[in-house]
Amino acid sequence: MDPTSSPTSWSASDWSDATMGHSLRLAAESMCVFGGFLAASINVVRGDHLVTVAVAGIERVITASGEILGVDEILGRTIPVSVLEELVLAQADDWGVLKYVPHTRSGLEQVGWRVDMPYDGSEWHPDDMLLVPVRDDDGRLRGLMALDGPTDGLIPTPERRPLLQQYAAQAARVLLTAIERSDLNERVRLAEAAREVLGRAAQSKSPEAALRDIADDLLSAFGLTALRGTVFESTDRHLLLDAGSASGLQHSPSLTRIGRIAAERLWRQQQVAVLGRTQTVNSDGADADRALVRAYIEESGLESILIAPLGAGDQCLGALAMYRVAGAPPWTEIECSVVQEIGRDLGRILSISRALGLERQATEELREVDAYKSRLIATVAHELKNPIAAVRANLDEATQLSSELTGPTDPAADAGLRRSLAAMDRGVHRLSTLVEELLLLASTADPNAYPVEPIEVTDLVETAVGHALEGAGAGRSRVRLELPEEPVPVIGNAHGIEIVVVNLVSNALKYSPADSPVTVRLRHGEPHEVELSVIDEGIGISEADQAELFTEFFRSTNPAALEQPGTGLGLTIVDRIVRRHRGRVTVESELGCGSAFRVLLPAR
Ligand code: ADP
Repeated sequence: MDPTSSPTSWSASDWSDATMGHSLRLAAESMCVFGGFLAASINVVRGDHLVTVAVAGIERVITASGEILGVDEILGRTIPVSVLEELVLAQADDWGVLKYVPHTRSGLEQVGWRVDMPYDGSEWHPDDMLLVPVRDDDGRLRGLMALDGPTDGLIPTPERRPLLQQYAAQAARVLLTAIERSDLNERVRLAEAAREVLGRAAQSKSPEAALRDIADDLLSAFGLTALRGTVFESTDRHLLLDAGSASGLQHSPSLTRIGRIAAERLWRQQQVAVLGRTQTVNSDGADADRALVRAYIEESGLESILIAPLGAGDQCLGALAMYRVAGAPPWTEIECSVVQEIGRDLGRILSISRALGLERQATEELREVDAYKSRLIATVAHELKNPIAAVRANLDEATQLSSELTGPTDPAADAGLRRSLAAMDRGVHRLSTLVEELLLLASTADPNAYPVEPIEVTDLVETAVGHALEGAGAGRSRVRLELPEEPVPVIGNAHGIEIVVVNLVSNALKYSPADSPVTVRLRHGEPHEVELSVIDEGIGISEADQAELFTEFFRSTNPAALEQPGTGLGLTIVDRIVRRHRGRVTVESELGCGSAFRVLLPAR
């Protein structure tokens, strides 16, 4: 009798190497001829089942249930490895390579098939078994040869056994080589498929795109009917992709819950799990859950479901579910390990994309806050503009009136009035400067302000220096202007560059003694750069202050600097406008000696 007889069957043509299938049949045939048997079958371990891949010597067999089948129909029949080991081999007489299992041992009636021939009462009973288990170097069962129907009708005698053992050992070697070669072929095939698939996935922008790009290859490489990728959210799941016939598969919330619990456990164990009609790998869940999944497999016409966790670090981020249609082969160990690898790589893509997503979201939020701040500043400044203008106009009128006052006056009251008016005028002036600078600051956040174009900056610098001198009430001689003979073209915004020059020169004038010189130098700097320097011999800036110079509203802690009116916005505006030009501002300064501000702009 042959022990492999579970009712599920699948085509034996799945034996990955046709030549190898042929040589296995030859091995079985020669075992029949030289060993003197009517039938021999060859079976290999796939996953946790033993599968019949070749039968020699006979046309028909009788199954344990009495059914008569053609040989082709028993190809692909399976039996769990555990049943073979624990029920059959455990009860066998150990003849060395050969294991003899008399039909009288218990429980054997449920397993196997036998040669279809009448029992003539000979010593060999049709339900006896003579088996050659094939184990690898680690002692793992990899295959099995079963011999049936000795031509002489006798149980091999101890004298006959050594020769039989020799044949059997040879056949076992052939079988092990074939299995290992087939495994190797499969590993190479899957590794190549996986490498290609993952190479493509790594180039995808999002996990959804990664999975979409590789879905077809996964479906064909693993012979799937459907594929489903899910990402776990805190309380829910988010569908990454349904491929193949997955959208037609219904999923109840309880199945989703079971899948998630399984994926989280599997990620901790770094494994995949399979639950199928005949195959169970790493399925540790509750019995009720398993029954639910089995019922689902049955109803949906599936053979098995493989769950691979998607994760990174110690976090399980999602799951890949792979579905095989009823009758499909069991999952091999190699397939499981390749899918596990794919899950790990997809998990990595998932976690990178999540981190990028969070970063993008944070940047977006910051940008929104920034835009809101700019809008707020612009609105407030704008609203303040009119009342300040009204106060200023009235103040000017009041000052005018006070100077025209005639008649008897009280000189003390008169002086007091003038002082008050002057103080109010200074206050209003500061207020309007603040409003102007706030509006300028808000404008630097407006993407449409300061559009750039090819411009020539020499004249522009000269004009801006003039404005700064005028604003500071200083004479032309305060500034030493060093401009090159040849034109200095840049890609920039004339108004923006003017604001930069006015601010830097105004500061240089403001923060240095009235008689000290200020140098403004324009020249071609590094290749493709234009350098504008504003150098003074004024109060200088401490190192600690230099670090904060370009921060909004920053004013120096130096009392000499604080004596001068200011808002702390000028350098922030300068920095932002220069950066809008893809340039940069640097500062070198020493307290008490002076400062040099340098603006570097890309040349045209
Ligand atoms: P403010 O309106 O106060 O001048 P800025 O942003 O232009 O604002 O400058 C910030 C601070 O940097 C100033 O308060 C001042 O202390 C310091 N600072 C700027 N330019 C100079 C300079 N040329 N020399 C010395 N200190 C300067």
